[in-house]
Parts: sequence; C-alpha cells; structure tokens
Amino acid sequence: MTPRPAAPKLPGIVSCAPRPHVGGSCRRPLLAFEITVALPERTPAQSTSTEKRSVGQGLFRKCTGCGVVNTVEDLSSRFYVCPTCGHHHPMASSDWRKLVLDDGALERWDEHILPSDPLEFEDGKRYVDRISRAQAMTGATEAVEIGRARLSGIPIAYGAYNFAFMGGSMGSVVGERITRLFERATSDRLPVVLLHASGGARMQEGILSLMQMAKTMSALGRFRSVRKPYISVLLHPTTGGVAASTAFLGDVNVVEPNATIGFAGPRVIESTINAKLPAGFQRSEFLLDHGMVDTIAPRSEMKQRLYQLLSLLSGEAT
Ligand SMILES: [Zn+2]
Repeated sequence: MTPRPAAPKLPGIVSCAPRPHVGGSCRRPLLAFEITVALPERTPAQSTSTEKRSVGQGLFRKCTGCGVVNTVEDLSSRFYVCPTCGHHHPMASSDWRKLVLDDGALERWDEHILPSDPLEFEDGKRYVDRISRAQAMTGATEAVEIGRARLSGIPIAYGAYNFAFMGGSMGSVVGERITRLFERATSDRLPVVLLHASGGARMQEGILSLMQMAKTMSALGRFRSVRKPYISVLLHPTTGGVAASTAFLGDVNVVEPNATIGFAGPRVIESTINAKLPAGFQRSEFLLDHGMVDTIAPRSEMKQRLYQLLSLLSGEAT
C-alpha cells in the first residue's frame, strides 16, 4: 500500500495545539487573519462564615395541580397546600406531627425495633443497603412511627406511615409497631389515630410482609373490646396490603382531597376485567361518592375534624 501524500501546507496557517479550556485565551492565527477567542474565567464559589442558611430558603416548587410556582417556604407555612388551586402535596411525618398533635409532640414507642434482612434479599441492590439509605435520607428508623400524644387535649395513641421511607411499605417492623400501637392502646384504653400513606407490603420481605396484614388486623380486633374509637386517615397514596388491612377498618375513615386510594393499580384492574375504568377511579371524591370512605378533610380542617370525631365517639362532646 502506498502511503498517502501529506497535505500541501498552505501559507499563513500556523498550528495551535489544543489547550484545556480552563479560562484565559487562545491566540489562533487563521490563514491571513488572527483572531482571539476569549474564554470565561472560572469563578470560585462564594461563601462566608457568617452566611445564614435555612432549609428550603430560596427554593421553588411547581405545583403539580396547577403549575404555579411557589417558594418552598411559602408552601411549608401552608402545610404544602397550594395557595392557588388547593392541591395537597405530600408532607413529611414531622409536618404531620406539627399539624395534628399538640405542640407537635410525640412520646415515641418501640423505636428499638429495627429492620433486619431475614431473606438476604437482593434485587440489584441489597435490602440492607436500601434500608440504610432510607434511614439516612429520612432520619427515621422505619416506615412508621407510633407513640402517645395529645390532640386538642385528648390523649391518643398515634401512628403515622412515612411514605418517604421505602414508599411507606409494610414489612415485619412496620407490622409489629402497628400491632403494638393497638395493643398499647388496648391496655391504656386510648383512642387510636393512624395516618396511612403506603405503597403496600414490602416485597423484599416476601411472605413475612404479607403476614403483617393478618397480625395488625388481629390486634385491631382485640382493640375493639375496649370500645375506644379508631380513626383511620388515608393520605395520598394508600394502596396494596395496607389499604387491604387497617386503612379501611377505621370506625371513621377520613381521607385527604384528591388522594389515590385503592388496592391494585388501575392498569392491573383494567387488564384483569378487560374494561375501561371510570374517570376519577381510586380518588378520594370517587370513593366518597361510592361509600368507601366517610369524609374528606382538607389539611386546614384536619385537626378540628379529628377532634370532633374523637369527642363524639368517646361520648365527650359538649
Ligand atoms: Zn396549585
């Protein structure tokens, strides 16, 4: 093979070796002209030790209901309800405590019960690693918190699922804590307020997570003997094994506006029954119209509604 002849060298062209673009300028003579390309200088990050920062300051969030952009500070002060359209955004467990409980105070029970990995499950990522990450992200030990609190002065046994912790899924520890919530409420003769927000049973624990459905409902059944009210609050979303166990078994089932609540997802149902589902299916308003839940309470009225229900069902209404 004959080597290719070298390209003829044109007069006036001067090679310019590539340089890293880290600022400064590159003088590159081109044919008979000479141009200078100015590159921006890197600016070091500015920070001072006296600078004050707070969570959410200067951040914005677009409303998923109407698309209007609000500051996170503004949304936080309104308990994450859009001031324009009233859409209820997901809210952390700590904010629910502030909204519902007196002084936001919860005397926690059974925080020492921690998750383990009995099946040594791995689905691309080890289950123990998923748990560690969820704990680091949320600051919670598991997907539910329980304890004793007061609601407008009424002592209650309080529980709340944390959807940010692995989708609020119910594994062995969640089931055990819910069971102990009802057992403690039975022995202390306390009414129960339980906030649900969950994707259902935790697949990484297999059959052990499904067994929690029967266990929690058995504890609830024994709780009925003390004739104290159990108020179930269903938040967005409440689905799967949690919806199929304690969520729909309240003496009164309270839901948030426009929450997704159901057992299987709509696509699964449509493919199973081979029919198109009606508009708004598995939403709070649809469920209320069809008698599946008792009342819809916006966050602005949630605490007052719970207080009224507890007072009426305890026979203490004035
Ligand atoms: Zn909105």
